[in-house]
Amino acid sequence: MIGIPTREPYTMRAPCPSCGCTVGYVTERGAQDVVRCMSCDRHCYNAPRTETGKAVRTVQTVHEAIKPKQRARILLRGGFKCECCGKVPRGSQGELHVGHVVSVKRGLELGISDAEINDDENLIAACSECNLGLGAEVIPVRALVSVLMARLRGHASATGASSGPTASSGSNKESFQP
Ligand SMILES: [Zn+2]
Ligand SMILES: [Zn+2]
Repeated sequence: MIGIPTREPYTMRAPCPSCGCTVGYVTERGAQDVVRCMSCDRHCYNAPRTETGKAVRTVQTVHEAIKPKQRARILLRGGFKCECCGKVPRGSQGELHVGHVVSVKRGLELGISDAEINDDENLIAACSECNLGLGAEVIPVRALVSVLMARLRGHASATGASSGPTASSGSNKESFQP
């Protein structure tokens, strides 16, 4: 068992067949919400999450959780170009999308929270083509590495240019020795 379920009183759609009590509680069994009688603990019925008020997590709801402000931030970080192929889509070439490194579908399967799925680090600016290519799959490691390297380079030039005269000078080769 994962722990003692919290027994918030829940008004059942029908009285308990065993004791007639109308107060139940909602508990989870797998992905399903189950309503049980509060007084006799009888299993009364399975409730859809829309009924119990629990949010139904779908690819769409997770996508919609990305606010415009965050979208703008992701596109800005990517330099308003596709982080996968470097293309700057214009006009008929479509627009720049915000895509997921670990796809929403996969994230839901893995039980990752919305906040983690939509974390900046899991989001990339992607052109229509690359975004479609990513689809429901997890971004290939090779593509991911190039994205991360580009981000690091962007980060280094952004911070290195404004400050630290000694930071980027000199040889760094020693640090890469085994
Ligand atoms: Zn009962
Ligand atoms: Zn692209």
